[in-house]
Amino acid sequence: MGNKRALEKSQKAKAGKRLIPGIHNFCDRWCDRCTLTDRCSIFAFGKEEERILSEGREAGSEMTGFVGTMLKDALRLLNDLALEHGLENNPFADNHETDVLEEQDHYLLRTADDHADWMQKWTDRNNLRISSILSTLEETSGENYMLLKDAVEVLRWYMNFIVVKFSRALYSGDTAQGALSDSLGSAKIALIAVDRSIESLRVLQKFISDDSGELKKGIGRLERIRKRALKEFPGVMEFKRPGFDF
Ligand code: SF4
Repeated sequence: MGNKRALEKSQKAKAGKRLIPGIHNFCDRWCDRCTLTDRCSIFAFGKEEERILSEGREAGSEMTGFVGTMLKDALRLLNDLALEHGLENNPFADNHETDVLEEQDHYLLRTADDHADWMQKWTDRNNLRISSILSTLEETSGENYMLLKDAVEVLRWYMNFIVVKFSRALYSGDTAQGALSDSLGSAKIALIAVDRSIESLRVLQKFISDDSGELKKGIGRLERIRKRALKEFPGVMEFKRPGFDF
């Protein structure tokens, strides 16, 4: 398939699927859990690449049409994903963004960074223990098994995500206001990640009660982040993320 055909196919897919422009800018990147994958051009882009590769063909030349139409979004997404998941030597960085991230000094970023460090250490320390509790629960209570498993996955997913999103919210250089504000949209998804992390830490407290004090400190840190972010970004919770908020 040539570039022209790939581009036509991409445009047809967009028209047929009623893709929502910009939906991927303020989501949590958790495509496996996303209910709107069929409305997202970035997801369609990934699926098309997988399909070409699964047929044993070279994705590069056939994807040119897609990349040409979505290059900026695709690179931004890959860069964000690398940052959000703590990938060192991020190959997708436009260096400005990673340099800024390293040099920033703001309460929200320092504290969100502390959360990521603390969370990583806590999970490293408790990995075996969590696996053991999950094994027991799998035998005794399906509901509690799912509850704890979900809480652990949520905490891991958002661990580095929060600082990256607040960094974009604070330093993206975006001057747009209201519905078009990249800054407010980024702050809102960061706050959603904070809230889900708080809920998940509360779930952990139930199952690992002898470490409740340490987990309480983690919750306190996230609550301080939340309070400061609401002050820093007035009106943030009224921001409507395309596709997700109404
Ligand atoms: S909006 Fe797109 S990039 Fe975001 S989670 Fe959903 S499918 Fe993934």
